[in-house]
Amino acid sequence: MNSLSIHYGDILQAQRRIDGVAHLTPVLRSRTADELAGAQLHFKGEHLQRAGAFKFRGAFNALSQFSSEQRARGVVTFSSGNHAQAIALAAKLLSIRATIVMPQDAPAIKVAATYGYGAAIKFYDRYTQDRESISQAWVRDQGLTLVPPYDHPQVMAGQGTVAKELFDQVGELDVLLVPLGGGGLLSGCATVARNLYPACRVIGVEPEAGNDGQRSLQSGEIVRIPVPVTIADGAQTQHLGQHTFPIIQQLCDEIVTVSDAQLLAAMKFFAERMKILVEPTGCLAAAAAFNHKSAMAGRRVGIVLSGGNIDLSRFAQLSAGVG
Ligand SMILES: *Cc1c(COP(=O)(O)O)cnc(C)c1O
Repeated sequence: MNSLSIHYGDILQAQRRIDGVAHLTPVLRSRTADELAGAQLHFKGEHLQRAGAFKFRGAFNALSQFSSEQRARGVVTFSSGNHAQAIALAAKLLSIRATIVMPQDAPAIKVAATYGYGAAIKFYDRYTQDRESISQAWVRDQGLTLVPPYDHPQVMAGQGTVAKELFDQVGELDVLLVPLGGGGLLSGCATVARNLYPACRVIGVEPEAGNDGQRSLQSGEIVRIPVPVTIADGAQTQHLGQHTFPIIQQLCDEIVTVSDAQLLAAMKFFAERMKILVEPTGCLAAAAAFNHKSAMAGRRVGIVLSGGNIDLSRFAQLSAGVG
């Protein structure tokens, strides 16, 4: 276990670093949702986090530990959007210059928000170009520090504060459902759950079209897949990370998948019944609660609503079933 990249103490330190900077997000309840799932659901509302997703936690935790030399040179990252906004905002708060490598087809709302926070954007084609090598060139040529979206211990520790805060708010849970892309959020949350409530079942949830995490657990090594086609744009990752995989392998109980149709149904449920706007990726954990009911029956279940960034026009298209 000592070889794992983060430990519970790292998350407690991260919680102190982000205290008073990140929002302490609310835990939402809904009787209708409880009835649908046949369980007690506690929704951790990270769609209400600063910059609209939990990613601000990891970004601020990492950037606040930069040396003065690193601060002076700036930060670079690659992202499908939410991490970009998080880095841009955290960098602005800490007076660090941020450069974001972003796909050309990133949602307009995410591009606008990233510019709005004062970051520079370098666009690339996600189907033909490699974002990691583009970012590495900036590191090499300009001396910027790379803070990747998930495979980074300080980022992972920051994301783990989501679970720490949830347990602080609601106490023990029988099951914790966490959206899974590259595994920053899941590895951090699993570290917390294992330390505070070892019996809590920790389940990662990924899109059916991109079940590399599930396959990685089954095969015992990191499985790489082509860019998955799914409405969950925040979980279109192709593989888990060197830091995130061992933690997920050792500390998580299971990874389950949900379909785009199930994500859509959950997104509409949140809008119509709970009056909240949750982006498709943010609906992963909830969709699992509504569709893998036997694992939840009668239990106290924590659900991370991981983000709320979606264009209203995109939301309208998806709700109308236009694709
Ligand atoms: C990034 C992101 C995820 C996935 O997080 P990982 O740390 O990459 O596993 C889930 N939901 C939202 C809204 C995200 O932005």
